[in-house]
Amino acid sequence: MFSKILIANRGEIAVRVIRACKEMGIRTVAIYSEADRASQHVKLADEAICVGGPKSEQSYLNIPAIISAAEITDVDAIHPGYGFLSQNAHFAEICESCNISFIGPSSRSIRLMGDKIAAKDLMRKSGVPIVPGGTAAVKNKDDALNAARKVGYPVIVKAAAGGGGRGMRVCHNDVRLISAVMTCQTEAQASFGNSDVFIEKFVQEPRHIEFQILADRHGHTIHLGERDCTIQRRHQKLIEEAPSPALDPKLRKRMGEVAVKAARAAEYSTVGTVEFLLDKSGAYYFIEMNTRLQVEHPVTEMVTGLDLVKEQIRMAAGEALKLKQDDVKMDGWAIECRINAEDPANNFIPSPGKIEVYHQPGGRGVRVDTHVSTGYQVPPYYDSMLGKLITTGKTRQEAIRVMQRALEEYTIEPIKTTIPLYKQIFSDPTFWRGQISTNYIEKLLGERE
Ligand code: ADP
Repeated sequence: MFSKILIANRGEIAVRVIRACKEMGIRTVAIYSEADRASQHVKLADEAICVGGPKSEQSYLNIPAIISAAEITDVDAIHPGYGFLSQNAHFAEICESCNISFIGPSSRSIRLMGDKIAAKDLMRKSGVPIVPGGTAAVKNKDDALNAARKVGYPVIVKAAAGGGGRGMRVCHNDVRLISAVMTCQTEAQASFGNSDVFIEKFVQEPRHIEFQILADRHGHTIHLGERDCTIQRRHQKLIEEAPSPALDPKLRKRMGEVAVKAARAAEYSTVGTVEFLLDKSGAYYFIEMNTRLQVEHPVTEMVTGLDLVKEQIRMAAGEALKLKQDDVKMDGWAIECRINAEDPANNFIPSPGKIEVYHQPGGRGVRVDTHVSTGYQVPPYYDSMLGKLITTGKTRQEAIRVMQRALEEYTIEPIKTTIPLYKQIFSDPTFWRGQISTNYIEKLLGERE
């Protein structure tokens, strides 16, 4: 087992990983930017090293500075968290070549799944159902028109190297398609350093269903059931739950088996997520595989009783999975809300600034994963997530009721947060009935894409 791990991240996920390490008797090294000097992860770690200026490129994406910090502190492994360098194959390779374990899959799997076109192509060849289209990049106008004709409108234009819900465009006709392809290519080059885009069928009013994978380095791959991440804003998740109200045991078993098949095809190890869209007829399609721990991993932990970060660390250290598929039981219901410093009433614009009053909920069935407390200054440089509120219950109804009272207790002032929006959602009968699709929030707020 590792004796010391550097956490190449910040915020709630750095805190989450440090906590797991402490419980495992592993020493920790935090890295931080000049904007995060007073941050919780810096205080909790055994050692902390400043790796650069406030901007991500200067610090949390600064590979030479992070590797130097790892060498100076003599760690045996790096945990990348999510975002930043977590899906950067080059970084994983550098760690491998410096003899520092990268707590994640191999650089080969990251590279393969990081290209959505190659990933879809591999899945199709492996017998995993994919969203129609999108197994080759579209280079020009004719390519685009042909691709759209094959699958039929509406279509969605996506970046091969895309992530975080950015840069996708839904098109209903040729004129819109041509301009969308051009903008998408330019944006993809600027954001992801790769201008490849592809076109696939736009699935109407789907649910986002993803399966949590655990895979050791000895060829054992299992799944821990699904998460339903249908409540999204501009293709970004806001609320996640496990299990999904849309799956029965038969469909869960079928999709779970397909997810395991997908992970095996990618020669995957440690923790990862296979994402699907589920349409109204019950058909499901692979969209992508995320080669890292997900933001929403706690809902799976709450219904399976497992600690995903500890499992991830154990598997990265080469331990064999002790669990078999039949040992995995989902018990009860868990729901997570991402608490973002954003103004939902004003097009979700970020709301950085000082938190003068902070009071977080507690009590039975409540878990809060956060790095925030009174006096915390929300920096404008990073993702706007302040933390995650997770509630549990024996049933979905119970988890919702606990969520409602927890949201009532949660006070974060004076900055704007997504809490008022969640209060509205959890009192909506449509949400209670579980009759939701990915355009739920747009409908609720009376918007059109
Ligand atoms: P990213 O990697 O940027 O998160 P994904 O491919 O995972 O992008 O898609 C994010 C979300 O965008 C999905 O959960 C879904 O809501 C929407 N989406 C993506 N592809 C499609 C599609 N073909 N049809 C309908 N919605 C889609």
